[in-house]
Amino acid sequence: MATCTHIDHVHVTELPAAVDGCADCLQSGEPWLHLRICLECGHVGCCDDSPNQHATAHARDSEHPIIRSLEPGEDWSWCYVDEVGMRITGIEGETRIPPSPLGG
Ligand SMILES: [Zn+2]
Ligand SMILES: [Zn+2]
Ligand SMILES: [Zn+2]
Repeated sequence: MATCTHIDHVHVTELPAAVDGCADCLQSGEPWLHLRICLECGHVGCCDDSPNQHATAHARDSEHPIIRSLEPGEDWSWCYVDEVGMRITGIEGETRIPPSPLGG
């Protein structure tokens, strides 16, 4: 079974209380579906089912390996390098997010 060797890249230990949406979509005025947060720098991007896949683009451009879902009730994380899903303990808080502009 694959394991993630990038836990030392996790610098976000407290989730923001609220976000306005995908940072990149908000800037360009485009819609997103689901939100993911980069656990290395806190960048909020959109999922791979969103038109622009900003979370994956951020991980690729910045080489930040791990994201976590910001969707209500979801606490899973994903490492792009190891391609493995996991739950990372020790991350506090829950983020209030607006409804998706795409209705998902
Ligand atoms: Zn990893
Ligand atoms: Zn986006
Ligand atoms: Zn990042």
